[in-house]
Amino acid sequence: MKQQEEMLNNTNSPTILIVDDEERIRTGCRKVLSQEGFEVLTAECGETGLKMIEEQHFDIILLDLMMPSLSGFDVLSRVKSLHPDTVIIVISGYATLEHSIEAMKKGAFDFIPKPFTPEQLRLLVTKALEYTRALKDIANEKSRMRVLINHLSDGVMATDYKKEIVLANPAFLKMVGYQGSTAVGHKVEQVTKYERLREMIDQALTMPSGEFSELVDEVAEGNGNGSPARILSARCIPFRDRASRNIGTITLLHDITAMKRMDQIKSDFVSMVAHEVRGPLNSVLMQLQVVQDGLAGEISSKQKEILARVSGKVQDLVCLSSELLDLARIESGLISQEREQLDMTEIIVDQVEFHGKKAEANGISLSLGGIPESLPVVANRRNMEEVLSNLIANAINYTPAGGSIRVSAEKAGDYLQIEVADTGFGIAKDDQQKIFAPFYRIKDEKTRFIPGTGLGLSIIKSIMDAHNGMIQVESEPGKGSVFRVYIPSVILQESSASTQYVACVSKS
Ligand code: ADP
Repeated sequence: MKQQEEMLNNTNSPTILIVDDEERIRTGCRKVLSQEGFEVLTAECGETGLKMIEEQHFDIILLDLMMPSLSGFDVLSRVKSLHPDTVIIVISGYATLEHSIEAMKKGAFDFIPKPFTPEQLRLLVTKALEYTRALKDIANEKSRMRVLINHLSDGVMATDYKKEIVLANPAFLKMVGYQGSTAVGHKVEQVTKYERLREMIDQALTMPSGEFSELVDEVAEGNGNGSPARILSARCIPFRDRASRNIGTITLLHDITAMKRMDQIKSDFVSMVAHEVRGPLNSVLMQLQVVQDGLAGEISSKQKEILARVSGKVQDLVCLSSELLDLARIESGLISQEREQLDMTEIIVDQVEFHGKKAEANGISLSLGGIPESLPVVANRRNMEEVLSNLIANAINYTPAGGSIRVSAEKAGDYLQIEVADTGFGIAKDDQQKIFAPFYRIKDEKTRFIPGTGLGLSIIKSIMDAHNGMIQVESEPGKGSVFRVYIPSVILQESSASTQYVACVSKS
C-alpha cells in the first residue's frame, strides 16, 4: 500500500480509487483501468476509503453506494468537502435509480449500474477524465487571470447588470478609497464616491446593442482647497451575452494625478519664464532702436548693420516668449472664450491685404481666390485673425521668390472651409502630422535659415480644437502645400471644458 501511494505521488497519471466491498468488482475494475495506464488504488470498505481520501487527492473515485458499515453517501459528502474537484462515479448493484439520482444531486458525476462491461467502464471513466481536465483548465485559467488582475497597477472592476461588483482588484479599491475587506457583491455606489463613474456604468449598461463604444472620461476628487486630490482616467465598456444583451460592465482606472500636476507645473513655469523674459527684451529692443536711430551718437553703417541683426534676433526672442505664453495660456485654460458673430470674408480680405507688402517684398504673388461676399460665423475674432495670419505668414516664409499663394474660402456642409495654397517647398509625408506638435520645425537646406519658433501651427491646432474645428494639410515636396481649416458655421456655446479656451497671439 505504502509503495502504491509513493508511486502515485511521483507520477502525473490520473489517480483512481475504487471503494467497493465486492472483491470481484475491485479486482475487475482495477485490471481494466490499469491496462488503460491509470494509477489505481482500492479500498474494501467506506472507512478505509475515507482514510485514503483524507491522506491523498484522487482524480476519480468509483464508489459503491451500498456498503455494510459506512455508506457511500457518507463517503460522498466527505469527499465533496475535502476535495470538491474529485469526480465521483457511483457503482451499485442494488441501487435503485432514485439512489443514484440522489447521489448525483449530492455531487456525484454519473453512475454505472452493476453488472457492467469493461467497455462501459472505460467509456464512463474517459468521459469523467475529460470533465476533470476541463475543470482543471478553467481553474488554472481563473487562477492565472486572478494573479494577473490582482497585480495590475491599474484599477479593474467588473459589475453585473444589477450594478453589483463581481470583480475588483486591489488597485481599483485603493483608487476609489474603499476600505472594506471585499467589494464583491456590493453595489457600485457602496464602494465608490465618484458620481461620474456611476454615471458611466449606467450609460454603458443602457448602451443600445447595435452600438459598441468605450466611454472615456476623467474623474476627479477634490481635497477641499479647490485643486483635485486625485485625478483618474476612467474607461468603461459593457459586456454582452450571445443575444447581444448588456449583462455587465468593465471599468478600468488609471491614476493620472502626477502627470496632470507635472503638466500644470510645466505650464506655470513656461508662463512665468516667458512673462519675465518679455519685459526686459522689449526694453532691450527700445534701447537698440535709440542707438540705431543715432539718438545716442553717430554710428557707422557697419555698426548699423550689426545692430539691425541684433535687433532681429531680439525680436525673434520676443516672438518666442509671446507664443510660449499664449500656448501655455490655452493649455492651462486661463484665457476665456469670447465669441461673436463674425464675417470671415472680412477677416480674410484684411489679412491678405496686411501680408501683401511682405509677399511683394519677397517676390511672391499673394491673391484672393473664390470667396463668397459674406461668410458668417460665431467665433473669437482675435483667434480667427491669428489662424489666417499664421497660415499666410508660413506660406510666405516657405515659398521661394517667383512663387504664388492663393487664399480662398467656401461653405462645406456645416463648416466654413478656408484654404491657403502655396507653390512653395512643400512638406514630406512623414512630417505632415508632426508639424502640428509644439516646437516641431523641419530643418533642411531650404528651411534651415528661415527664422521661426515651431509654435505657429500648434497654436492654430489649439484654436481649432477650442472651436470644434480642424486643420488639415496636403502637400508635395517641391510642388507646394495646401492648408485647410474647417470652422463650424455655428459653434455651440456649451462645448466641453477643454474647448472653452482660446489663444490671443500675434505672429505677423
Ligand atoms: P514655424 O513656422 O515658426 O517654424 P510652424 O508651427 O508654423 O512653426 O510650422 C512648423 C513647420 O512646418 C515649419 O518649421 C515648416 O517647416 C513647416 N511649414 C509650415 N507651413 C509650411 C508651408 N506653407 N510650406 C512648407 N512648410 C511649412
